[in-house]
Amino acid sequence: MGTRILKWLGLDKKSKYVRDYFYTTNMKASIYMSIIVIVLEIWMIIRMTKTIFRDHLQDQFWHIVEKYYSNYFLLLAAGVLTLLFAARHLTGKKWIRWISPLVIALSTAVCVFEIWMISKYDPATVTRTHFNNYVINLCAGIFLIALSGVILSDTKHRKWQGLSVMYVFSFVCLNFGMIISENSYAKGEQILTFLTMELFVICLLIWRPAVGFAVLTVSYHIFFHRLNGLIAFNTGTVGTTESTQINGFTMWISTLIFCISNYNRTLQQALKDENLEKMNSHLSKISVEDELTGIHNMVHFRAEAEKLLGYVTTDKEDSVFLFFDIENFKSYNEKYGFHAGNELLIKIAHLIEDEFKGSLVSRFSDDHFVVLTRSTGAMEKIMKLSGDIKDNQGEVHLELKCGAYQPSGEETDSSLALDRARFACNSIKKHFDRPFRMYDKSLEDKFQLKQYIVNNIDHAIENGFIKVYYQPVVSTENGCICGLEALARWLDPNYGLLPPGSFIEILEEYRQIHKLDQCIIEQVCRDYRGKADAGEPFVPVSLNFSRLDFELCDIVGYLTETAEKYNVPKHYLDVEITESALTDQQDFLQNAMKVLRSSGYKIWLDDFGSGYSSLNVLKDYQFDVLKIDMKFLHGFANNQKTRPILENIVSLTKQLNMISLTEGVETKEQYEFLKNIGCDRAQGYLFSKPVPGEELWSRVKRGELKISPEYSNAG
Ligand code: C2E
Ligand code: MG
Ligand code: MG
Repeated sequence: MGTRILKWLGLDKKSKYVRDYFYTTNMKASIYMSIIVIVLEIWMIIRMTKTIFRDHLQDQFWHIVEKYYSNYFLLLAAGVLTLLFAARHLTGKKWIRWISPLVIALSTAVCVFEIWMISKYDPATVTRTHFNNYVINLCAGIFLIALSGVILSDTKHRKWQGLSVMYVFSFVCLNFGMIISENSYAKGEQILTFLTMELFVICLLIWRPAVGFAVLTVSYHIFFHRLNGLIAFNTGTVGTTESTQINGFTMWISTLIFCISNYNRTLQQALKDENLEKMNSHLSKISVEDELTGIHNMVHFRAEAEKLLGYVTTDKEDSVFLFFDIENFKSYNEKYGFHAGNELLIKIAHLIEDEFKGSLVSRFSDDHFVVLTRSTGAMEKIMKLSGDIKDNQGEVHLELKCGAYQPSGEETDSSLALDRARFACNSIKKHFDRPFRMYDKSLEDKFQLKQYIVNNIDHAIENGFIKVYYQPVVSTENGCICGLEALARWLDPNYGLLPPGSFIEILEEYRQIHKLDQCIIEQVCRDYRGKADAGEPFVPVSLNFSRLDFELCDIVGYLTETAEKYNVPKHYLDVEITESALTDQQDFLQNAMKVLRSSGYKIWLDDFGSGYSSLNVLKDYQFDVLKIDMKFLHGFANNQKTRPILENIVSLTKQLNMISLTEGVETKEQYEFLKNIGCDRAQGYLFSKPVPGEELWSRVKRGELKISPEYSNAG
């Protein structure tokens, strides 16, 4: 109940935003009010001076000063001070305060005059009310002088000054209204000035209802009390008539109602704006915050890094960009699940943030974080973090990898700097126990190549620099070619022949890989059409797909369209997906693969056995051909375990109704072994390295390579 009454009276506690809103609204209103007052008072002063000369009233000069001029000057001074203060606040221009001496001059004139009047005060000739006026005007004048002095000497805007200006201005306005109306009433005229000033002050400014009520009631009360001590000049009646009192009461109540409704309207608007403001700041907060970890995101990092690098005061020699990668994080996810993986990421994010307090820290993506910090002491922090992460690794071997790049004097491009730090970080991946690498000259060439690849993939495709090479797959049954693997090569005019090892990962990292894979699909289909049109044989080709192909484009749609365009039967096109792409279960990949199979394409599992959860992949997905990773053959001659492992994999493949294929066959001995254990197919340098189509077909023509009878007549 109590709070409701307080609220109703406007005395409840307001937020800073609402208080500031009221304040600014009043400052704006003060501008209009003070301009009106200034113009009016100057006009009144001119008019009065003209009247003195026109009506030869020079002998009554001091009397006129007392009755009119001193009040005009005081109100003018208050108006000028209000205008200058509000204008300085709203425009932010500090020089405006230099107008204060004008206020001081006007107020001093008023004060000097009032002091003179007080000094020669004689109760026999001057009424008590008049004497009170001298004192009030003197006090207001002194207050104005003091306030002007403070405002003049203070370059900062302070709210208490603004409120004082507003109160003194309102007071002078109301007092002016009373004095002038009192004069008018004594002459038998209307009390319009008082009413106008009441309206002016109460309705143009926003007052809390209780304050508005107090100001209105007290001023009406004082005014009518003063009038009641007067005798109307023309009628001779003492005090106010009943009708004047009723009119006064009506004015009082209507002004009060207006004051309250004005307050409520402004309050509603302030609350609405405050909500909007809150929402905005919430939105802008989440726009710079990483959703998962709560630390800053890259939008914030880029903007702040650019600012920092732009400052002349930043010591660039001592600044370093760090790129962090948690190696093996994928395995952690696999072992403990996504939820636990996320928890760990959040923990790591805060570990980094705490370690690099005061520096710029953001999450880049996945398990990658970036920091812009001082070089001094960075190394110790990285080492400490590396230890902290080991403490949290559980049963998975996690390793913190950090690449660093020190920007040179002129650099302001944070993206390029981060790219370099990231590049340095990637260069130590899989280097056991090497947690840190500084970007240096030795990395520069490789980095330039990377930049070249990212920037030139479109150009390379358009100009035919991307070429498909074919590597035969041989059937162990008859030693003939039963398939070809399409492998991309980049024949660059500047760099020469680039193997996929130097561009596939980069294109994946920059999400451009689908362009290359589409280009290879097109070339393979075109090659098929060429051979078929010439009536020559062709064998099924397996295409390597990146898992990103399914995200970045409709690769299945593209494959089907292109096959239709070149009229390639579906059983001539197979799709290889590498095992590492499938380790985390993702519905969209499973669905995409289902669509592929149901569209009539065979799916091969590439590099089987290269990862940690090969068997899980077999459980979760359906394949037609299993490509056993070449690493099984590496120790073939010396490692006795290799043989039983391979034997078991081949027999597992049979149980799961899949065709087995071993890659990387380099010796006859390996081939014989595979044949003996029942591996269906083999691929490797023993038969041929990947070669351009023309070379492959001319070797077939020369009889060096044989095509399986089932395909030798096809076309
Ligand atoms: P992959 O699909 O496992 O391809 C087999 C790789 O092993 C090829 O390397 C091939 O040249 C090599 N290889 C074949 N036989 C032997 C052998 O007897 N001994 C040795 N030491 N190596 C052998 P390449 O052509 O450098 O390709 C590397 C990887 O790049 C491929 O591995 C594949 O994952 C990827 N790749 C190649 N072309 C494409 C493509 O068009 N698209 C996509 N997405 N990836 C591709
Ligand atoms: Mg492959
Ligand atoms: Mg492979």
